Amino acid sequence: MTNHLFSLVRSSIPAPGKAFIETPDGSTLSFAELIDGTGRYANALVALGVAPGDRVAVQVEKSVPAILLYLACVRAGAIFLPLNTAYTIAELEYFIGDAQPTVVVCDPARREGIAAIAGKAGVKAVETLDATGDGSLATKAAAQAPQFADVARAADDLAAILYTSGTTGRSKGAMLTHDNLASNARTLVAYWRFTADDVLLHALPIYHTHGLFTATNTLLAAGGSMLFLPKFDADAVMRLLPRATAMMGVPTFYTRLLQHRGLTPDATRHMRLFISGSAPLLAETHRDWRARTGHAILERYGMTETNMNTSNPYDGDRVAGTVGFPLPGVALRIADPETARVLPQGEIGVIEVKGPNVFKGYWRMPEKTAAEFRPDGFFITGDLGRIDERGYVHIVGRGKDLIISGGFNVYPKEIEGEIDAIAGVVESAVVGVPHPDFGEGVTAVVVRKPGASVDERAILAALEGRLAKFKQPKRVIFVDDLPRNTMGKVQKNVLRDLHKGLYAR
Ligand code: ATP
Ligand code: MG
Repeated sequence: MTNHLFSLVRSSIPAPGKAFIETPDGSTLSFAELIDGTGRYANALVALGVAPGDRVAVQVEKSVPAILLYLACVRAGAIFLPLNTAYTIAELEYFIGDAQPTVVVCDPARREGIAAIAGKAGVKAVETLDATGDGSLATKAAAQAPQFADVARAADDLAAILYTSGTTGRSKGAMLTHDNLASNARTLVAYWRFTADDVLLHALPIYHTHGLFTATNTLLAAGGSMLFLPKFDADAVMRLLPRATAMMGVPTFYTRLLQHRGLTPDATRHMRLFISGSAPLLAETHRDWRARTGHAILERYGMTETNMNTSNPYDGDRVAGTVGFPLPGVALRIADPETARVLPQGEIGVIEVKGPNVFKGYWRMPEKTAAEFRPDGFFITGDLGRIDERGYVHIVGRGKDLIISGGFNVYPKEIEGEIDAIAGVVESAVVGVPHPDFGEGVTAVVVRKPGASVDERAILAALEGRLAKFKQPKRVIFVDDLPRNTMGKVQKNVLRDLHKGLYAR
């Protein structure tokens, strides 16, 4: 049985004239326009020589035509390959060389630079599309007929290759099948209760799994609508909130909205659901949001490679600091990273998952793919976690961020939680840095509130009674900002590199 990704659209259309995307300026894309527009773009892609299984690399601003292009690739049986708009030409050279797309679609300003590197990768055409829907590809699509017969695909044929965020190193291309994406969208519709009446406030980028698949596919499958903001802006979100029923965001959306005076129970009373993911939501943010709005943020856990794995319950307790339960159809276990032994409830180990949501492997990395799957098909996420007595999954950090100091395991998240609670501290990142005596020295990098006088001595003193000696930082370093990638995730490898000589003798 196939589970063609475009069947999400075909099976969900509530009324052809109903809006799927609305933009703040009042323009809309209806479901009927979505069918026609994707048909025209699919015809244009075929005319450019795109065959089933070909990659179409797309680096364009978030816009309605960008969504049409995504779904046109799906209809044409091509593999959609979105690229972060922040990537420079030099970075694109790596991705385009790796992906070998048939066509690259980019902003007009990028055309020349990309054309110069595209030839080497065997690209047949470099086309343009800007945020207003102009560009060479838009012109070609407009000249095409809207009718298009969807190219048949098997459930495990690829629908997309999505590069990971590059938080821990170089991004890897995750190969996602039609069934991976379609089945996860259907699961989320049911679990989060999305219907055709929902309007999702969408302020996420669409080159990442969160905004593209978790948000867009789910609303498509529900026949709901999305209110598109080009990017997150607290004022704009507060202005548009009255038109929405649900929001999906990363934790920084919530911390920034908490700084907005307009955030009151009245401003959010009509909202049905606030969801957070992509990075840990601080328990403090969960608590403050509840106090300010009356809503308990629903935190969930996913990856580029796996779509959504777990979610806090819709009806039951949404427990701060946890990512909830495995979603229906997802098997999740905690294993010893070295021996692969499945660990008993309560113990910390690596999170492994299996299910229709889990990707097919890393693009052109067969060895890495083989190394990340167990023989029984479980994918080794690389995240460390545990399952509590009520079955809630807790993420304790990434395996790569685990610090081994003097032979003891130190989980940075625990120490960061203690430091963040100290008066005058905005946030912190704890990393392991080579240390001649301990192997790794626990090192805290801290951002202070403006004007706060808290210093290294005060932080160490505050931690003294709260953490075992081996967990206490050897040094505290103050910075203005933590280094983050474009998804807002703290890049600990950058910090480790920056401070690698700290304890050198
Ligand atoms: P790379 O794999 O290239 O280093 P990345 O892992 O950040 O980058 P993504 O696929 O965007 O790339 O992110 C998935 C990761 O995000 C998860 O493996 C997990 O570490 C983290 N994550 C996602 N949701 C949560 C959450 N609710 N709480 C804590 N961490 C989360
Ligand atoms: Mg990752």
